[in-house]
Amino acid sequence: MLGAGAAGLMCAIEAGKRGRRVAVLERAERAGKKILISGGGRCNFTNIYCQTEHFLSANPQFAKSALARYTPADFIALVDKHRIPYHEKTLGQLFCDRSANEITHMLEEECRAAGVKIFLNVKVREVQRTDEFLVRSDGDEFRAPALVVATGGLSIPKMGATAFGYDLARQFGLKIQKTRPALVPLVFGAVEREQYCDLAGVSAEVVAAFGEQSFRESMLITHRGLSGPAILQISSYWNKGKPVRIDLVPGRDVTGAMRDGDARNMAAARAAFQGLLPKRFATRWLELHAPAAKGAKDTWSKRELEELERRVHEWIVVPTDTEGYGKAEVTRGGVDTDELSSKTMEASKVRGLFFIGEVVDVTGHLGGFNFQWAWASGAAAGRSV
Ligand SMILES: Cc1cc2nc3c(=O)[nH]c(=O)nc-3n(C[C@H](O)[C@H](O)[C@H](O)COP(=O)(O)OP(=O)(O)OC[C@H]3O[C@@H](n4cnc5c(N)ncnc54)[C@H](O)[C@@H]3O)c2cc1C
Repeated sequence: MLGAGAAGLMCAIEAGKRGRRVAVLERAERAGKKILISGGGRCNFTNIYCQTEHFLSANPQFAKSALARYTPADFIALVDKHRIPYHEKTLGQLFCDRSANEITHMLEEECRAAGVKIFLNVKVREVQRTDEFLVRSDGDEFRAPALVVATGGLSIPKMGATAFGYDLARQFGLKIQKTRPALVPLVFGAVEREQYCDLAGVSAEVVAAFGEQSFRESMLITHRGLSGPAILQISSYWNKGKPVRIDLVPGRDVTGAMRDGDARNMAAARAAFQGLLPKRFATRWLELHAPAAKGAKDTWSKRELEELERRVHEWIVVPTDTEGYGKAEVTRGGVDTDELSSKTMEASKVRGLFFIGEVVDVTGHLGGFNFQWAWASGAAAGRSV
C-alpha cells in the first residue's frame, strides 16, 4: 500500500481483516496528516446524505457501487465502536466533538488489530513490475503480489502532497483526467479586488451558480477574492475565464416596497439592501450597481428598480483564477475511472494494481463526501486485494 492517508488506512484495515499481509508505506513522519487538519481540526468524517450527485467525475456513475457497499452508516458504526463523540453540524455533515486526532487513532488501532504494518518516513521513488511489484524507496525495497496506490491529490504541497500516484498510473499506461485545484477560493482581477477586497471578512448567505450547478451556502469576501462554502463548492465546477453568478439575496424581493411606493431613491435602496445584506457590503454593492448618476433625492423608475432587483439576484463575477493547490481542499481529475473496476478499484490493464481515494478521478462536494469516498474506495479495494 502506498500512502497512509484516509483511503490507504481503510484499505489496509479491510485487507488485514481478511488475513492479507499488509505493509503501508508512508513518506511523512506520521499517518493520516490530512485527517488531522481536516474540518478545522474536528474532521468532517462523513455526510449522512451521501449520494453520487455529490461527486464530480468524468463518469458520474463510477462511484456508485463502492459508495453503496461502504456507507456512512458503516463508518459511523466504526466511530461508535471506538466511542468517539460526534455531532451533525449542518446539512448532514458529521464532525468529531473533540478532535480529528481521535479518527487517526481509531484507524491506527484498527490497523494494529488487523496486523497491518505501517512504515513511516518511506519516500517511494520507483515501482517496477515483474512477476510481482517491486517498490523502491530511498533505502529499502518491498515486494508484493498486489499494489494499492493511495497517495492522494496535489492539494497542500506544504504537507507533502506529490504527483507520484499520477506518474505511476502513466507509467503503467493508464489515462489521467486533467487535474486542477477544487474546493478552493477564487481570486478577483485588479478591478474587482479594488472594488471589494477592503471588505475582507464580510460574509453573506448566497446562491453561487455556474452552469446548471448551484449551491446555497455562505460566501466570504477575502483579501484576494471570494471564499466560504458556497464559493468553494462552485469552484469545483468553475472554468477559468467564465463568470460565476451569485444571488446575493436568495428568495427575497429587496426592492418590492420601493417599486410599489414613492421612495425610489438611493436612501430607500440603502435601507432596503442594508436590511438584508451586511451593511458595508450593501452600501458598496449599491454604489457600484445602482442605476446611474442618481442623487439621494432622485427617483428611479419602476423599470430601473426591476433591473436592480435582477442584478442583485444575478451578480456576475469573473474570477481570474483560483488560489491554487496551496489553498485547495482537494484535486479534481486524476486516474481515469474507465481504467478501473468500479467494484474493486483494480486497473483492468494491470492485474494487482489498485488506485483509491483522491488520486482517482472522483471528487466530492464539501461536507464530508471526500472522506466518504476515501473510506468507500479503500474498503472496495481492501475487500478484493
Ligand atoms: C485543509 C483540508 C481540510 C479537509 N477537510 C475535509 C473534511 O473535513 N472532510 C472531508 O471529507 N474531506 C476533507 N478534506 C479532503 C480530504 O482530506 C481528502 O479528500 C482525503 O484526505 C483524501 O484521502 P487519500 O487517502 O486519498 O489522500 P491523503 O489523505 O492525502 O493521503 C495520501 C498519503 O500518501 C502519502 N504519499 C504521497 N506520496 C507518497 C509517496 N511517493 N510515497 C509514500 N507516501 C506518499 C502522503 O504523505 C499522504 O499521507 C480536507 C482537505 C484539506 C487539505
